[in-house]
Amino acid sequence: MKLKGGQSIKLLWKWYYKKSFALKITIGFIVGIIIGLIFGPSASVLSPFGKLFLNLLKMVVVPLILFTLVVSVNTTDPKKLGSIGGKIFPYYILTTALAVGIGLLVAIFINPGEGLTLPKDTEVEVPDAPSLIDVILNIVPTNIFDALAKGEILSIVFVAVIAGFAISFMRHSKETTVAEWGNLLLKLMEAGSELSSRILNGVLQYAPIGVLGITASTVGNQGLEALYALSKYVGASYLGVGIQIMIIFPIILLLFKVPVFKFFKDVREAMMTAFVTCSSLGTLPVTLKSAKKAGISDTVANFTLPIGATVNMNGSAIHFGVGVVLAANVVGYEFSVGAIIGIILAGTLAAIGTAGVPGAGMIGLSIVFTQAGLPIEIVGLTAGVNVITDMIFTTCNVTGDIVGAAIVDKSENEN
Ligand code: ASP
Repeated sequence: MKLKGGQSIKLLWKWYYKKSFALKITIGFIVGIIIGLIFGPSASVLSPFGKLFLNLLKMVVVPLILFTLVVSVNTTDPKKLGSIGGKIFPYYILTTALAVGIGLLVAIFINPGEGLTLPKDTEVEVPDAPSLIDVILNIVPTNIFDALAKGEILSIVFVAVIAGFAISFMRHSKETTVAEWGNLLLKLMEAGSELSSRILNGVLQYAPIGVLGITASTVGNQGLEALYALSKYVGASYLGVGIQIMIIFPIILLLFKVPVFKFFKDVREAMMTAFVTCSSLGTLPVTLKSAKKAGISDTVANFTLPIGATVNMNGSAIHFGVGVVLAANVVGYEFSVGAIIGIILAGTLAAIGTAGVPGAGMIGLSIVFTQAGLPIEIVGLTAGVNVITDMIFTTCNVTGDIVGAAIVDKSENEN
């Protein structure tokens, strides 16, 4: 039987649609590497395809978290939200501090930076680190629409929680009209949430091409000399993250009786997306999807993951630990115990302040260097391999967010 053109395209699309997302992006990734290796820097012509993928992902982030969080808050007891918050923040702080320590230890062991010299004429600007009180105050937006337009995630979470509670109060009002409005608003939010996840599903169909574009241009532009000179630094970064992902996270999951293999199988799509996009925020829609796949409840996932993508950066913390040892080796600086404690503190705070976007860790690193009295020019020294390390740090950042959500969910269920 002969198929008409239209029919065969439909069949082809159906076949493609049914294939798993993980398989599709793996293929995009491998083909991207091959193209990058063959064509070198000219593979950059494919970079707009990658940029398009990141733009599409970012496009769904704000409506997705706004709508889904308002809906989740509506079905949640305020006490429960408090209890989730009370558990997730200590988890973020402890795992981040531990990650800085792992970065330091691994790097002291591998000793990166030997034979490297301070680059001349590199200018790195250190931004002022905002004070803690400012960070907290900035969560409350003075203009909701401004926060939405700028994609300020913590402010959006704040607005969504407040709106969610307000709608819930309206729905339970004794005045019939107000209760009707409340129900109407909730329906609207539910519809918006469904709409966003449908758009996301469409966006994800484009992922393989986007991943191919990002990978081909990254591989094509990666200077091999930089990679060679800094191979110990890159190796220490990958080893540090390997320890966090393959030892620390499984131990934490086991402590909370979360099945480890199933967990990693369920969240691998988010891990892979983080690896190729180098952006926790861009990955957020996929992170939310993966968390649902891992059986984490909507309330815990929708509440903790957007916050995690903004403040919980275990991979970036490892970056700071490894980076400090590299810099210390280059300038011949010896650590005292006091200095190590100071670095862990500064690294934890800098990781919390690191934005979930590509390359943000370099800003955090320069803040940590300044606090530790190390020359910030060394940040410039690592810039040539930053994409390669950012991939693995972002994977660790995102994995840490879902591990946190999984254990908080487990402990909430047990209560
Ligand atoms: N790119 C990382 C992220 O999005 C942040 C960093 O550069 O450390 O999670």
